[in-house]
Amino acid sequence: MAYEVVVVGGGHNGLVAAAYLARAGRKVLVVERLDAVGGAAVSTRAFSGLDARLSRYSYLVSLLPRKIVDDLGLSFAVRRRRISSYTPQGDGGLLVDAQDPARTRAGFARLTGSDREYEAWERFYAMTHHVAQAVFPTLTQPLPTRAELERRVADPAAWSALFERPLGETVEAAFADDTVRGIVLTDALIGTFTHAHDPSLRQNRCFLYHVIGGGTGDWDVPLGGMGAFTDALADAARAAGVDFATGTEVTGIESDGVRAELTLSDGRTVAARDVLVNASPYALAGLLGEPRPEPAPEGAQLKVNMLLRRLPRLRDASVDPREAFAGTFHIAEGYAGLQTAYEQAAAGRVPDAPPSEIYCHSLTDPSILSPDLAGQGMHTLTLFGLHAPARLFAADPAGAKEAVLRATLAQLDAVLAEPLENCLALDAAGRPCIEAKSPLDLEREVGLPGGHIFHRDLSWPYAGQDVTDATGRWGVGTSYANVYLCGAGAIRGGGVSGVPGHNAAMAVLEKAR
Ligand SMILES: Cc1cc2nc3c(=O)[nH]c(=O)nc-3n(C[C@H](O)[C@H](O)[C@H](O)COP(=O)(O)OP(=O)(O)OC[C@H]3O[C@@H](n4cnc5c(N)ncnc54)[C@H](O)[C@@H]3O)c2cc1C
Repeated sequence: MAYEVVVVGGGHNGLVAAAYLARAGRKVLVVERLDAVGGAAVSTRAFSGLDARLSRYSYLVSLLPRKIVDDLGLSFAVRRRRISSYTPQGDGGLLVDAQDPARTRAGFARLTGSDREYEAWERFYAMTHHVAQAVFPTLTQPLPTRAELERRVADPAAWSALFERPLGETVEAAFADDTVRGIVLTDALIGTFTHAHDPSLRQNRCFLYHVIGGGTGDWDVPLGGMGAFTDALADAARAAGVDFATGTEVTGIESDGVRAELTLSDGRTVAARDVLVNASPYALAGLLGEPRPEPAPEGAQLKVNMLLRRLPRLRDASVDPREAFAGTFHIAEGYAGLQTAYEQAAAGRVPDAPPSEIYCHSLTDPSILSPDLAGQGMHTLTLFGLHAPARLFAADPAGAKEAVLRATLAQLDAVLAEPLENCLALDAAGRPCIEAKSPLDLEREVGLPGGHIFHRDLSWPYAGQDVTDATGRWGVGTSYANVYLCGAGAIRGGGVSGVPGHNAAMAVLEKAR
């Protein structure tokens, strides 16, 4: 077998790269280890006998540029959430209603006793919005240098706050209230095991990718679930002539920089001019027979998928659960509590109060439920738990998962007026509809190294960070001139964005010119 381009892995980024290259006339093969494409961007009917298509791993879209949807002619859309977030606090809580500033201001005043925090919030997110407008369009262009990006941002205070000083300094200077500080900080911790004052600034990089998407930082619900995005991409790739080998793993890559040969798990070999790797840099090192990057990536989250008979009632009687669960529902995410949970997890313990956030996607997009389930008032519920590093699960994977799940749900129950368990639907065998995924599960099921949702810690969106400087104009190069990263581990990869897929395709096409 011989192809012009072989893509190793059919995650959403591999599909984006394949579709661009096939549309440019390349003969492309996508080799995917699993039986279905999509990687961490898939929907599934997780509970037997119940037609609810849950976004099993990733669930919200922010970083996907409109350009990729348009270029590839994807039939895919997202829906904006009206409620940005809800954070219960005692018998009250803070609701951030994106479409009703007066209501949000009143909520801040009730929680914090004055307008000060709301005004600080408005100023802070005006700053991130400005940075988003400057940075987001660059993600699908050749890498800017650090100086070029700083010039584009053209706001020394914002640059210093986001790119130079540990985010904790900025958060503490801007906000006084622990709950408000915590809500802001969570964007720095999703998928990143770190704390507010980490001198490596990995919390700042994580925060940056959480506030620049689409030039606004909005996180939207994919209509039809995350699988609808992957399906649209696979359709576009197929229509452009891409070949697929699913249920097949690439077990080795040999390259002399001009031609490459890939070995497959079924014993066949494939020759290729260019190889695009959607697997992680950690996996790529293994495929090339090179030393693995140190330290190995480590994921730090617990993902829980649930189907409910009905939404639970809240202790805070002033808010309708249909509003509270429509946005991001923050649990045990106060600023001081996040630090304590980090320290406990870093010391190898299950945090006493594991932080998490919850989302009910069926409130924004009922199409993921069959009309029958929707008619019964059923809802999906997704929980993303923070500070659950893979190391906690190593000795006793099942026992530790149970312990983290129990401790996490106890935090949720503490803000509900009834136990969550009472609201869980039952599957065809009478089992409660709840599944939990530890980082070890994610490594085994999706191939995320150590369960790291971004394949490795996120990078700054500018050139010159890689010591070997092999990443090239597009941030996708490797030590071989014809082997490229096209997945989350590339510079500007991470999240459901298609960006590294697009950029790897551009690098290949540019080379050919
Ligand atoms: C629980 C969870 C929640 C998340 N939530 C969000 C969210 O809401 N929004 C968001 O933007 N991001 C989210 N993310 C992150 C996001 O899903 C990932 O960063 C993104 O999907 C990575 O896409 P990718 O195509 O680069 O790689 P992947 O999705 O990891 O796909 C890589 C593919 O390569 C295949 N593969 C690997 N090695 C081989 C091999 N040797 N041979 C053949 N095939 C191989 C794998 O099987 C896989 O299909 C979440 C991730 C997780 C796990």
